[in-house]
Amino acid sequence: MRPPCSGDVGGDGRGASPRRAAALAALTVLAGAGCAGGPGATSGPGAGSAQPRASAAQACAIPGEPTLVRSDGAATLERWDLDAIPVLFEPVLPADPAYAAFRAAIREAGAELEHPIADAPEPRDDAERELWRREDRNREIAYAGRAGTIRPIRCLEAWFFARQHARFSELTSPTEFLLSVLEHTAGGRRRLRLYFTAGDQLFPPKSLYPFPDIAADVAQGWTFTVMLHNHTIRRRGDRPALGVTSPSTSDVQISRGLAADLRLGAAWITNGVYTIEIPAAALDQYVTRE
Ligand SMILES: [Zn+2]
Repeated sequence: MRPPCSGDVGGDGRGASPRRAAALAALTVLAGAGCAGGPGATSGPGAGSAQPRASAAQACAIPGEPTLVRSDGAATLERWDLDAIPVLFEPVLPADPAYAAFRAAIREAGAELEHPIADAPEPRDDAERELWRREDRNREIAYAGRAGTIRPIRCLEAWFFARQHARFSELTSPTEFLLSVLEHTAGGRRRLRLYFTAGDQLFPPKSLYPFPDIAADVAQGWTFTVMLHNHTIRRRGDRPALGVTSPSTSDVQISRGLAADLRLGAAWITNGVYTIEIPAAALDQYVTRE
């Protein structure tokens, strides 16, 4: 089992078949998890258009230390339980010099684009050409604003992006992470449970997928509101280009599975500067690999 973006097609046109098989295995595992449904989910606060602020009355930070759920080599699955503090969903950036430097590098490359532009892939055969046609279709749907909303990054995504970037540079050794967001309100207190999966490789290992844990949480009354992951840096000539703010064909397939089995509310994808929010109901507008 690989991350939702396990089937993401990188700029080098990496083969996809093993990853697709892994993705299907993930869905099989989910199907057997005996998931109970939670209450209806939402995609969180509406998207804003303002550029994030670098500072605010309330700092962008995740309070407390995480619990290590399990690890596999250098990769870890960690969990935070915290109150749903408003700043997490506001356009406020963490005070993190390395993250600020990442953004500066993107800006100086002329790459701070809401609809990022990167070099086109070079398919090796007809199968890859067809796959890229489908990936391009998803990008067109996302960029047209027909199935989800692209907006500037907010605190929640930026804090975790910065945390991973501090360990493994998203500019020079990019890695994808998964952040699963669950909510539960009791006695008027809105609580969040966050699962963060990341490692030193481009994709974290399937052993650290949080979905069995989330199935147990959902059975206990939690709502699986957001599945976030990041799309890594690409190239435009000799300059960096932001990752694409649209779901890959594999992202679509896995997110649909999570929506069906765990009542996932929304899929979010960030590139460190912009984030797309896709409500589960809009996933059907995108295409999968077949
Ligand atoms: Zn992806």
